[in-house]
This record gives sequence, C-alpha cells and structure tokens, in this order.
Amino acid sequence: MRKATIMGTMKLGKYSIGIGDRFTYQGEAQLRAIMKANEQGVNIVPVWNKSNREHTYVGTKPVDTRVEADKAVNALNYQGAYFVDADHINLDTVRGYMESSDYFTLDVASFIGTVSSPEKVEAFIASCQKYTGYLQIPGILEPLHITEGLLRRVAGNFLAATDHAAEIYTCLKRGKGEGTFITEVSMDEVESPQTPVELLFILKMLADCKVPVQTIAPKFTGRFNKGVDYVGDLDQFAREFEEDLLVIDFAVKEFGLPKELKLSIHSGSDKFSIYPIIAQAIEKHGKGTHLKTAGTTWLEEVIGLAVAGSEGLALAKKIYERSFTRREELCVPYADVIDIDVSKLPSVAEVNGWSGEKFANTLRHIPGHPDYNPNFRQLIHVAYAVAAEMGSEYTDLLLKYADVVGACVEENIYDRHLKRLFNL
Ligand SMILES: [Zn+2]
Repeated sequence: MRKATIMGTMKLGKYSIGIGDRFTYQGEAQLRAIMKANEQGVNIVPVWNKSNREHTYVGTKPVDTRVEADKAVNALNYQGAYFVDADHINLDTVRGYMESSDYFTLDVASFIGTVSSPEKVEAFIASCQKYTGYLQIPGILEPLHITEGLLRRVAGNFLAATDHAAEIYTCLKRGKGEGTFITEVSMDEVESPQTPVELLFILKMLADCKVPVQTIAPKFTGRFNKGVDYVGDLDQFAREFEEDLLVIDFAVKEFGLPKELKLSIHSGSDKFSIYPIIAQAIEKHGKGTHLKTAGTTWLEEVIGLAVAGSEGLALAKKIYERSFTRREELCVPYADVIDIDVSKLPSVAEVNGWSGEKFANTLRHIPGHPDYNPNFRQLIHVAYAVAAEMGSEYTDLLLKYADVVGACVEENIYDRHLKRLFNL
C-alpha cells in the first residue's frame, strides 16, 4: 500500500474527493474518472468512503472497501496516494475499521448540545479571553464580535462534541499509531448550520484537546438533499464558505493545527450549483478541499442497468416498483436530507412502460433536462437497501453489464463532478 507520508505524518493532499460506492463494484470506474482529470494536471487524491450505516444496509464489511480500493489501484496501475475512509464513525463503531481504514471521519454531531462540566466551560472561556471584543480575522471585512455570551453558547454546544472527537482519536492513536491515518471531524448531520465564528472556536477546542484534524466537515447553510442540487441562498453560501476558509487560515496559525487543514464538504452528492463557488473560493485563497460523494455512484448503477436494456432495464423497473411501494419506510432514516414531492412521483405502471432511455433520463442528474425528475432521483437514492435485498440478482447484473454501468459511473464523476469542481 502506498502512503502519502512526509516526516512520518500521513497527509491527504490539497485536492481530494470522496467516492463512496455502496456495493463496491465501481472502484475502477471511479478511479478512471480521477486519473482522467489528473492527466490534465490536477492532482486529485481518491478516497473511498463508506459509513457504518451503508455497510449495515448493504451487508458489506469494512475490509471490502479496502479490497475494492487496492484492486482498482492495481488494475489501473495508479501511482498516487489514496485512502479508505471510515465515514461517520464513533466510539462504538471505530474498532471495526481500525485495520482496513487509514482515514477516519469522527462523527460527533450527536454530542452537539451535550452539557459539559462547569469547570470545563469556565476553563474554556478563560482560555478565550484574548479573543473577546472585536477580533479581526485577516481577509474578513467586518471584525468578529466575541462576547462572553457567545463563548458560553459555543461551549454549551460544542465542548462535549470536541471532547468526544478526542476520545475517538485517542482510541485510534493507540490502535494504529500516531501519524498513520487522516483525521476528519464531522458535524454536518444536524439541523442548524455552524457559522464561521462557531467554526473558529470548534477548531480551538479541537486544538486544545490535541486532535490533529486535517479535514473538518461543518454543516453549511442551505439544504444538502441526497443526490440533487443545493437548495439555499448561493450568495450566503459563498460568503460563509469564504469566511470559513479565512477562519481556518487563522486557526492553523493561532492554535497550531496541521497546516494542511481544509474543509470537507459532505455534499450528499451532486451540489452542482455550489461547485463553481467552491472552485473560485479555493483558487482565490490557494486552499485545498475535500468533496465527499456517495450515493451518486449507486444511482449511476441503476441508470447503467436501464441503459443496458433487457434484464437490466427490467431490474431497474423492479427497483423502482419496490422503492415506490416502500417509500415511507425507506425515507424515514433520511427524513432530514430529502424533499420528495410524492405527487410528482410517476406511477409504477407508467414507469413499467418506459424505455431504458426514458428511465435513465428521468434519473440522471442533468439540470434542465425535460425528463429529469428530482423526486424520482431522491427516492431511488435512499432505496439502495432494496437492491441490497436482491443480493446476487442485482450484483450479477452489475457484473454482466459492467461496461455500460462503469461508463455511466465514470462519466458522472468526471463530466458532472470533477469538470465543474476543477474547471476542466
Ligand atoms: Zn456527512
């Protein structure tokens, strides 16, 4: 296994993309897309991410993702760095990923708002005295107004969460050894976004408890629904994203965090309208980024099967039928990150009459395409358990139509994601 190490500490690299793959069949297709971009002079590091939830639903083991990544890298003779991300793990689940992962996303969102001891809160506030009043962050026009009230609120919301990150990190350090893995901290799966000033103090807390965070995934403003475009105020997103970058710069120097620290965008896939904003901001400030995708590849598998026709199309239709019938149950775990207008879902009978092309065009994310239906797309996005239950009935066809499906996966990652994000 090749490791990107400098002076004993593993580094992620400036640009990286998380390419989740629920069924672990598309590693090569995903890597082909990244290598195609890298041939044009960018250097994007692939990271195969998979959460414990995805493993549970699909019935895969953490090691399967490692095997997939290694196989893809060897098959394509890829020479760069790559990682396997134990996505959204916590203290209960981390041990299962210790061996096979070298990138860990410590999910502490569920600890936000947990009360810390008064001693801890007072110590934190005392340690922030030098920042109270008007704090000028280089590059941000208006100075931040830091009051004791704000510090108390931030401590109340985030001290327990960052302490928990430290607990998971310590467990990993013991198990794997310091500097042998990438540490990401995520707080994105919550309702309220974290503002740039909150991010500043979250980073201070992580530095205080010695978590060498290399990527941080806040909850950004706006809605990040699964598999569809961003919904929200683009100007506000642009302003806050840029402020987050400047806050990170300040935090790295002020708190001594790893200098490669960058934002991780848990995109829920396909946030096309913010890609150019991200591209422009990171270029302007010479920063890196990590963009995490996952379900977009599963959707391309279904698109590929539909395009393949015959048995493939029949199975794609069966997946829709079962998704439609079980839509309420399938949507429950994703209620906060989908917006499906049920009245705009086509009936099963209607879909059963579709050609492969019509099915693919309805599902494929081409904004403005007359057949594209984001409700249909979101429903299939959350319905991968349906395909998982089909077992080899599903995966045998992935193998049978590997060329068509792989071409869809590659085109999607390259044309719709990397091109937009890296101005290719
Ligand atoms: Zn996330």
